[in-house]
Amino acid sequence: MRIYSIGVDLGGTNLRIAAVDSDGKLLEKLTTGAEVQRGRDFVINEMCAAIESLRVKYRDSGQLAGIGIGVPGFIDMDSGTVVRSPNLPDWLNFPVREQIEGKLGTTVVLENDANAAAMGEQWLGAGRNMDHMAMYTLGTGVGGGLIFNGRLWHGMNGMANELGHINVEPEGHPCGCGSRGCLEQYASATAIVRMAQEAIAAGDAPDLAAGARGNVEFTSRGIYQLALQGHVSAQKIYRKVGRALAIGIGGMVNALNLPMYVIGGGVASAWEAFAPAMFEGLKFRSFIYSTTAPDKVGPGRKHTVVTIALLGSDAGLYGAARLPLLKAGPSQAPA
Ligand SMILES: [Zn+2]
Repeated sequence: MRIYSIGVDLGGTNLRIAAVDSDGKLLEKLTTGAEVQRGRDFVINEMCAAIESLRVKYRDSGQLAGIGIGVPGFIDMDSGTVVRSPNLPDWLNFPVREQIEGKLGTTVVLENDANAAAMGEQWLGAGRNMDHMAMYTLGTGVGGGLIFNGRLWHGMNGMANELGHINVEPEGHPCGCGSRGCLEQYASATAIVRMAQEAIAAGDAPDLAAGARGNVEFTSRGIYQLALQGHVSAQKIYRKVGRALAIGIGGMVNALNLPMYVIGGGVASAWEAFAPAMFEGLKFRSFIYSTTAPDKVGPGRKHTVVTIALLGSDAGLYGAARLPLLKAGPSQAPA
């Protein structure tokens, strides 16, 4: 009998739910507004109703392995509790797993959304067939995920993978985590807009100032458009993004010597604008990278790949669905 699972991606604006079989085939995807401002009970009820509708629909076509849920924020893996989530302010120490298992009576696996995205890319995206990889999600903030031997690395108590808070500028811009100069302050969508505003305020980006006043939407995407059109100060900002990624990823390459580092999230679509500075920086910052870069080793030899994610915003959804399949055991979920 076919085994399938249900993945849930709870973002700030959308609640997305998908039924996926153990081969990674999408059976059905639902999207609703997350409406987090209506409170956690409302969101949980909406989520359970949507899960239940899929479960009823696919009842006769397969066996449900469980439900995987990706949530932005700190998760206590042992208890399945959302400890704290910046996007979900009333989900403080909220036992999501217990709540949903109680309502639906099936296995629930709770996971941080960036970890879920890493899992998705490793299963069906850029990291397909990779046993080990790191993933960076460049969005409003910068998240990360590490996969060793096909499994997510959680660290001692589930707090691992804060790759966005690795330092890239010792005395740099203050970060919400309390430190300064974290990668997130140079490689997130928020940081790109801030760096553009700083350049405008300093008077050395007249073309950006014109862009900000004009038709171009003043977002990281709009600034990317300006960079593509040849605006030098927009290109300079994306070079800063590339430099920061080179420092952050270069340190990881030196520490871990993984075969693959995947960059996803909305900012990754500006790959063309930041990748040249990133690759140049990686060769300079990491001797492991410079000796294992694809253009340094012969064909068929092991090399370090730094590449763009392939699943876009679906990575977290597929990754969430993967989690209960892995939990169900290798015999039911062939790798
Ligand atoms: Zn930080």
